[in-house]
Amino acid sequence: MTKMNEIESRRTFAIISHPDAGKTTLTEKLLLFGGAIREAGTVKGRKNSKHAMSDWMEIEKQRGISVTSSVLEFLYDGYHVNILDTPGHQDFSEDTYRTLTAADSATMLIDVAKGVEAQTKKLFKVCKMRGIPIFTFINKLDRQGRDPFDLMEELENLLGIRSYPMGWPIGMGQSFSGVYDRMEKKLELYNPDNPKAIDIIQLTGPDDPKLDEAINDEGLVAQFREELELLDVAGDDYDVEKVKNGELTPIFFGSAVSSFGVQTFLEHMLKLAPAPTPRMSTKGVVNPFEHQGFSGFIFKIQANMNPAHRDRIAFLRITSGKFERGMTVKHVRIGKNLKLAQPTQFLAQSRSLVEEAYAGDIIGLFDPGNLRIGDTLVTGEAFEFDEMPHFSPEHFCAITVKEALKHKSYEKGLHQLTEEGAIQLFKTFNSYVEKQIVGVVGVLQFEVLEHRLKNEYHVDIQLERLPYSFARWVNGPVKEMEKFKKAQRNLVTDRDERIVVLFENEFQMRTAMDKYPELRFYENSFVK
Ligand code: GDP
Repeated sequence: MTKMNEIESRRTFAIISHPDAGKTTLTEKLLLFGGAIREAGTVKGRKNSKHAMSDWMEIEKQRGISVTSSVLEFLYDGYHVNILDTPGHQDFSEDTYRTLTAADSATMLIDVAKGVEAQTKKLFKVCKMRGIPIFTFINKLDRQGRDPFDLMEELENLLGIRSYPMGWPIGMGQSFSGVYDRMEKKLELYNPDNPKAIDIIQLTGPDDPKLDEAINDEGLVAQFREELELLDVAGDDYDVEKVKNGELTPIFFGSAVSSFGVQTFLEHMLKLAPAPTPRMSTKGVVNPFEHQGFSGFIFKIQANMNPAHRDRIAFLRITSGKFERGMTVKHVRIGKNLKLAQPTQFLAQSRSLVEEAYAGDIIGLFDPGNLRIGDTLVTGEAFEFDEMPHFSPEHFCAITVKEALKHKSYEKGLHQLTEEGAIQLFKTFNSYVEKQIVGVVGVLQFEVLEHRLKNEYHVDIQLERLPYSFARWVNGPVKEMEKFKKAQRNLVTDRDERIVVLFENEFQMRTAMDKYPELRFYENSFVK
């Protein structure tokens, strides 16, 4: 077991993928290795279960899905692993993006037959923006899929990231025989009749005759040797710095459903993935290995876990120091002290009280409404972490309240839900009558909005779908901006009065970009 201190041993990452790539399956196997769960099916069950975690909202019950994500935690070989669960199906929302801001690295899960899919691409961009290391797991090798070289090319063309295969598969689908670990020169043999019984053979290299004995298929072995040689000659060199900066992604191959390649992946990844990383703040870089005081930021708020109490849970990523239950911290934005008495940590489905936690950990704080996304909590000298960006919504509605008399509650509710980050609220710019527009990343959020305004604020709203699919924050030289503001249609402002333009399709967007070459169009509110 590796001996590390509390902070060194933390690994906090998110899994990014497109629905059905096998994220639930992979997560479950990781938890099994860590001994956090005993039975397969525990994580999977979450999608359908009526368990306490997911019965907090009727929509969840009706749809059998979890609207918000949680954090899974386990120990493995001295590492303290935190997996941030990124909601992926219909419940894809801005939360999914924000969760990535709390991660120090990401695991990109790809279905070998499908390659890079839409949602993976979107999530990847957020990781790229943050420059975090990205590890790639190519899944479902037990099925026939695409040529690995093809997939590497796709990573480069669609995502702009180069890759370094840490392992290389021998065969695929019917002929899948195993994966060769290029670093450790080990061959992990796949046995389709008993995929869990993993046989590992130490080789001296790909030319080792033991390989021929083990695989016993001349054609396959010859092909493997040829491919590996090509990789050695024409592939990228392994470069730790590039991995650290997210410019080179180490690739692993496996089959999550058969637990094949998962442990190898986990072990390499834990070694390569960063311990809790520094974050930018108003007082400069906060490095968890130097800054002794406690600090953290809120990246997600989950409301109404229990409808009877209307409590909310604010998820805090600890960025430095140690958390102890009952400690008092400064809530920097409002300049008040807060006692952190009832924090919870999430492990699979059960909630438990946390006594202590360290940089890299995520804790859930019960919150009566003091906290909002991006808030900083600290002990000692006050500072604030960089603002949490908003990400481009993909669905838009004009919103109005049905009964004018309830306008006050309506505004209050909208304000609250905007602060929680459930929706983004825009106002039309330069229109005769100012209208409010709601933007969301996943359409389900519209239902959440309607439901919550009705249940918590007793307000009925009317939503009218608008044809836009993209929002871009715009900035540039003053003169050009003035011209743009006068001439461009579909302009709105966000809650911080920043100019945002809405487009129906990519063609419209490109036309505007070509017309105003001096302006910059941002996919999130990190407008420079
Ligand atoms: P998620 O939507 O990304 O969470 O994907 P799931 O983990 O729910 O998996 C989607 C489907 O793919 C399920 O039917 C899984 O059993 C299947 N699956 C996951 N991993 C593998 C694998 O390695 N091989 C094969 N053949 N199927 C897999």
